[in-house]
Parts: sequence; structure tokens; C-alpha cells
Amino acid sequence: MAVIRRCLGCQSTDSTNNLLRSVAVDHKLVVDETKKLPGRGAYVHRNQECISRSLQRKAWGRALKIGPGLDCDALENLSRSTDLAKTRLNG
Ligand SMILES: [Zn+2]
Repeated sequence: MAVIRRCLGCQSTDSTNNLLRSVAVDHKLVVDETKKLPGRGAYVHRNQECISRSLQRKAWGRALKIGPGLDCDALENLSRSTDLAKTRLNG
């Protein structure tokens, strides 16, 4: 059964199969590729545009109840990574 979550970038809802989950660990954002990390998670589409938008909106600190002190380096690196363009949604 599909689980539907909201993308922090474009704000549309989608199946978690199409979304990238991230969790906060010690005020640091960690990309949860396996969707198995414990704790509060939030979701963003697996593309550069949605990730950049979510970072610009500072949506992660709010979504994860951390506030502006959240370190989003992991996602910033990912949004700059050329690998992202090659990542398949169903991969
Ligand atoms: Zn999106």
C-alpha cells in the first residue's frame, strides 16, 4: 500500500516511493536512503529543483521541529551532485 507524504520543495503530495526521506540526527540532516532510520522524517522529491526549493524555504528545520539551527549540508551537497540527475525514481 502506498504511503503518501508531502514534498517540502513543491508541496505536492506523492507516494514515498518517489520521495527522498531525511531525518535529523543531532541537529544534522541525514538523507535516509533506506527509509529505515528512526525518528521524525520529512520528504522531498528526488530532484534538484525540489531539494533546492526546500532548502531555500528552510522547510526542513520546521518540518523536523528543529528550527533554523538544522545543518542541511547533506541535502545541499546532494542538490549539487550530478549523480542526482542520473538517479531513477524507482531505483
Ligand atoms: Zn517536489
